[in-house]
Amino acid sequence: MKNIMFIAAPAAGKGTQAELVVQKYGIPHISTGDILREISKEDSEIGNYVAETLSSGKLVKDEITYQLIEDRLKKDDCKNGYIIDGFPRNIDQAYEYDRILEKLGYEVGNVIYINVDKNTLEKRITGRRICEDCNTIYNINDKNSSPQVESICDNCGGKLYQRSDDNLESFQTRYNTYEEKTAPIIEHYKKQGVLKEIDGNDSVENIFKKIDEIIRD
Ligand SMILES: [Zn+2]
Repeated sequence: MKNIMFIAAPAAGKGTQAELVVQKYGIPHISTGDILREISKEDSEIGNYVAETLSSGKLVKDEITYQLIEDRLKKDDCKNGYIIDGFPRNIDQAYEYDRILEKLGYEVGNVIYINVDKNTLEKRITGRRICEDCNTIYNINDKNSSPQVESICDNCGGKLYQRSDDNLESFQTRYNTYEEKTAPIIEHYKKQGVLKEIDGNDSVENIFKKIDEIIRD
């Protein structure tokens, strides 16, 4: 199977789709967040550095992140394809990723851009409600995932709440950053002829069908 990279805006459903691919194909899901958390548990020079940096809320140096990604991708379980998540986040990292791939003799594979209208994303984020007891997620802007009784969880009767950053202003900021950093990445992979764009204004099942058609071969 070819390697997979997803590009999608916040709340576009990238994480859910990655999970579905993992379930169906059993390939590893490589996330920079997980790699850093994992290494921070190791008692080594680099492990201690990462642990200290993360706990102080700072960013791990790029060179270290690159090296850790390269080391992770070298492992045997990545030889038959993997999903890379949370990387590259900007065009410099995309160039760096190209270098890592070349060094390892890998190809970038399918770069899948899940394109969702900003308006749809806005509705998803501002409508999201979470059960404070069982964490079930609802969306009051979508009749298929609204609770039956307002503000009450269907499963357990718990109270629903809205996360403090699920508001329009915070979405706007995240979206603007995403657009600014991601547009050049999309262009970069389009030029390489590996970008597959799919319409993400659709149900989880239908989006997965489209992704599956791309990655199956
Ligand atoms: Zn509940």
